[in-house]
Formats: sequence, structure tokens, C-alpha cells
Amino acid sequence: MREILFVKPIFKTMIWGGNRLRTDFNYDIPGDNVGECWAISAHPSGDCEIKAGTYKGETLSRLWTNHPELFGNRKEKAFPLLIKIIDAKKDLSIQVHPDDAYADKYQPGSFGKTECWYVLDCDENTEIVIGHNAKDKKELVRMIEEKRWKELIRVKPIKKGDFFQITPGTVHAIKAGTMLLETQQSSDITFRLYDYDRLDNGKPRQLHIKESIDVISCPHRDVVIDPKITGWEGGTITELINDKHYTVQKIDIDGTMAMEQDKDFMNVSVIDGEGEIDNIKIAKGDHFIIPFGYGQFSLTGKMSLIRSFIDNRA
Ligand code: ZN
Repeated sequence: MREILFVKPIFKTMIWGGNRLRTDFNYDIPGDNVGECWAISAHPSGDCEIKAGTYKGETLSRLWTNHPELFGNRKEKAFPLLIKIIDAKKDLSIQVHPDDAYADKYQPGSFGKTECWYVLDCDENTEIVIGHNAKDKKELVRMIEEKRWKELIRVKPIKKGDFFQITPGTVHAIKAGTMLLETQQSSDITFRLYDYDRLDNGKPRQLHIKESIDVISCPHRDVVIDPKITGWEGGTITELINDKHYTVQKIDIDGTMAMEQDKDFMNVSVIDGEGEIDNIKIAKGDHFIIPFGYGQFSLTGKMSLIRSFIDNRA
């Protein structure tokens, strides 16, 4: 089909959220504690609508079910990916996600969660939590029981443009002062390991210690990110990750680049600048899906985009 599916984001208020989705991205957000923009999502907790065209007003989940041809007739029961922009004004809780097998047992029909982060912007001296220092499960359990959080949790400094892959079983947290674009499996299962003993409306938020211990990988191993940059007429494509769940690339356009949509579907988010796709104006904050069979297209302007697709046929 030769019609691009522009998607309307959904916003989530969070105790740790801020207002940068308004000040940086110009979205009309509900309040000053908005932590997440669900930019492309068909998840039941936030099912995005199509903005215009043939399918205007349809939700992405209904399109997936009723028009599978738009997505290459893939076999997954639900749209498999979820794209978010996150504005962390405060630290997020330290958490871990299950893999597909554990998720399906825990909440039948659910996907596990592999996720990755492209850092859009961050304050100076901002850090991120990835991994832990326990050498095996026994040590992990002991350190958790003894609340030796500082010793257990691995923290590293980050800067704008960094990219991280968070596999299931990885202890992780986004920290205050970070804005990032997240590409993830469409799942909402999070096990909270530690919340800095914070109170939310006078009460601590629920922790999931048993489930966390079940799924945390020991010892922790970082996923090494080795971006591959290729230059094309009109810009560059940087492949950030090629995983079985998703391939994520950053595209920097300066001029006109000819491309091809030869995947089942392709998610695209404009993260900076403005331009056109096939003579349709696009700008920072726009998100769209290029459907199956779209074929050749061109991007013109001065802008940066993040795109994702699944590099296998299901
Ligand atoms: Zn997470």
C-alpha cells in the first residue's frame, strides 16, 4: 500500500516525569509530570490512533487484526513493538523484565521485554543503571536481603547519542535528567527490585523481589554496542542494533536520500529537524509506520530519524 500511517502519541503521567515532552517536543501534554510518550503502540495500556487518511481514527491494534496485509501478514498475535520517548526528571525505580517464556507463564499471552535506549539528551553528569555486581544467584540473593544496593547496582555515566541494549534479566534504571527514545517489545511487565525507599502518596511502591530474583541473569554481561555507519547520497544510516526482536537505525538526512521499504513494516520517529517524506511534511515529534509493500520512498531535509523493523519473517 502506498499510504504512510501517521500515529497519534499517548502520554503517561508518572511520579518521575517532567515537562520536556512539551518544551523539547512541542507536544500538548497533560501536566508537568509526564514521563512517557507512547509514540507507536498497540498495547492495551496505550493503543495509538491513526491520525489521517484511509484509516483515520482506527487504533493500531485494530489495524493489526483487521488489516494484517499492512504488516506483511506477520504471525504475532499483537503488534510486536512499542516506541516510547521518556522524560525522566527523577530517577526511575531499579527494575528488570522477564523473557518471553517467563512472561507467558506470569501473564499468559504476554511478551517478554527486550528494550533499547537511544539517548536524545541528558544533563551533565547524568548516569544510567545497567547490570549488577553479584557473581552468582546466591550472592545476588544475599546482597538483596542485606540491602547492599550501592555495592550491588552498576552505574555508568552517559551522554547524548549513547545507545544501550537491555536484554531480559538485566537490572536497569533510567536516572534523573535523561531523555531517550526507547524501542521495545510490546510488553508492560516490569519487576521492581528497588525504589530508593521512596514514597508515592505516603506509601512505598510495590516491589517484586521474588520475580526479580527469578529473572535476573547472573553474572551480568553487558551487550556490546558496535554501531555500523554507512554513507549514502543525502545522509548516513547508523545501525545501532540488529537483534531478533528488532533492528534499530538512526538516519541523518542532509539533502535527499532514496530508500526502500522492503520489510514487513517500518516504524519511523523524527527526533530532530524537519523535512519531507515523499512530499509530505514531517518534523521533530512525528511518528509513522511505512506499511508492507510500500517500496521506494525519499526523505528530504535536514533531520534525524530513528527507525525500527523486524529483520525476519514470522
Ligand atoms: Zn525497562
